[in-house]
Amino acid sequence: MTEITGSTNKLLTINVSQQSWEVKRIEEKNRTSYLGGKGLGLKIYYDTLRDHLADIDPLGKENPLIFMAGVFTGTGAVCSARFAGVTKSPLTGIMITSSCGGPFGGALRTAGYDGLLISGKSDSPLYVEITSGNVMFHDAQKIWGMDTEETQKAAGLSKWDGELVIGPAGENGVLYANIKSGHRFLGRGGMGAVMGSKNLKAVVVRGHAYKVRPAAKQMFHKVRSRASRFIAKNEFSDKYRSFGTAYNVLPGIKAGYVPVRNFKYRTDDRFKLLSGEAMAEKYGTSSSSCIPCSIQCGHKGTFPDGTVKQIPEYETTGLWGPNIDNYDSDKIGEWNLLMNRLGLDTISTGGTVSWAMEAGERGLRKTELRFGRTDNIAGIIDDIAYRRGEGAELALGSRTLSSRYGGKDFAIQVKGLEMAAYDPRGAWGQGLSYAVANRGACHLSAFPVALEVLFRFLDPYTTKAKAFWVDFFENFYAALNSLQTCQFTSFAYLLEPFPVRIFPGFLLKRAMQYLPSIAVRFLNFGVLNKTWESITGIKLSQKDFLRAGRRIHLLERYMNTQMGISQKDDTLPGRFLTEKDTNHPVNKTVSLKPMLETYYKRKGYDEHGRPGKKDLKALGIDDAYCDRKE
Ligand code: SF4
Repeated sequence: MTEITGSTNKLLTINVSQQSWEVKRIEEKNRTSYLGGKGLGLKIYYDTLRDHLADIDPLGKENPLIFMAGVFTGTGAVCSARFAGVTKSPLTGIMITSSCGGPFGGALRTAGYDGLLISGKSDSPLYVEITSGNVMFHDAQKIWGMDTEETQKAAGLSKWDGELVIGPAGENGVLYANIKSGHRFLGRGGMGAVMGSKNLKAVVVRGHAYKVRPAAKQMFHKVRSRASRFIAKNEFSDKYRSFGTAYNVLPGIKAGYVPVRNFKYRTDDRFKLLSGEAMAEKYGTSSSSCIPCSIQCGHKGTFPDGTVKQIPEYETTGLWGPNIDNYDSDKIGEWNLLMNRLGLDTISTGGTVSWAMEAGERGLRKTELRFGRTDNIAGIIDDIAYRRGEGAELALGSRTLSSRYGGKDFAIQVKGLEMAAYDPRGAWGQGLSYAVANRGACHLSAFPVALEVLFRFLDPYTTKAKAFWVDFFENFYAALNSLQTCQFTSFAYLLEPFPVRIFPGFLLKRAMQYLPSIAVRFLNFGVLNKTWESITGIKLSQKDFLRAGRRIHLLERYMNTQMGISQKDDTLPGRFLTEKDTNHPVNKTVSLKPMLETYYKRKGYDEHGRPGKKDLKALGIDDAYCDRKE
């Protein structure tokens, strides 16, 4: 088998209108500056459409759908199954990036490509088959209408192939439809609707034509052993391996970050029934993860009806559990499977349905949906995917609905993206992060709730140090996600190496809270930049790594400001700023304003929320804009 050292720097571009394709060269300078994956996908999108960003219709033929493997993908590095999706979101109207652990990324790399850009719109349903030297366009009439599992079966996949498929929700343009690969998803922001708007049912890559080999083999193996050691030692990795992300339930009940009745309340003891620990026991769970992965947070289990199903993630459990007043995990398992088959993002579907329940309860909008009523949930999920009856309207998301009927304060979304299952009144840094995250109410942009509650490094109810850590982790995760390794590795990589591992816990906590700019100097995440270096053969220091992360984050923000985002959008739903009665003993709302002011200064944003010209120039993001007079 032919070997690829590091990367091919090849971008396959496909125009589905013309059924044509060509291979373009990715500039080495861009890959190094943006690290590959998500960062490079954003850069390619920007370079393709930089003067038209505001005018692009997300569901129009001109909106490209970009998929990028990372430098780590396909190398056998730890937790390196991932690839990125990048496009303009039909749900939010701004950039959406998403990371998926399905087999598509590895297959793309071993077919000889680092990325795929799809443009145009086919006149009739299509599926595309990619091999290392060819692209074939097939009629998809026969598979149009199939759910995601049926489509995957119809694609006749071998173990070396990787696929992207949409379900009925993507075909019907539900604004939060997702894309499936393996049993993982590009979940957020409606990428499935973008794919459906192109009449594209599936993309299959037949991989295994090349072997991806690191430039410095010995160094690669040495760093990989270190990375595996850190993960094996780390308590957080161990909890996720044993109980999945629903491990976050029990700490959340105590801390009061769980969503109850459309985030009106933030704690409820009954949520214990849905914890990772309870589900592990009830369903006899075993691993069902991205491959390769050393943490293995994904699980499957046997349900009472004898079927083996994927165990819902924490987000799904929260939004379809206490958030709609349901404590039956069997039902959540069923709905999770249904949404996965129909191709719906479980977070946005859940957030929109819970908004409709509250709007109905308050008499703002007619609906049969009610908190605690579960008999009509499967029906409404189905109706959303097919845009039937009430489902046609719910397919637009909670922002649009609340503009139409009122109830904006309890539409739990930011910039149009429904919030993940962490109530920011129980972790103020998470509140700041939701308010400013590039893709909307995204928990993963900086994930400060982990520092505030899971590790208890920071007091959740102070504004102190929050802007510092949100800024740091936004840059850190932008870089890490561009390597396309898993974000859940980060705590093992940050906490297990010397010198942090020998710090007494109380000292680390005080340093992070009161002296963050000193504490940050002790963080050693060498496994990330060293793995990158060993694969590409190009030197990358920790400082370069963070600087690249800052470049990626600011580019995305800069693109969003051109699409209309400004300082007024960096906020939280009114509920979190005004409602104190949450059934939790701490009666506080999020003190957002002071955190925002400090954050803006750290980021160098102007009063409109735009990145400063000085930074854009220094980071090489857009010299032409910087030289332009206002
Ligand atoms: S830790 Fe979970 S999300 Fe991350 S790569 Fe492994 S299975 Fe996938």
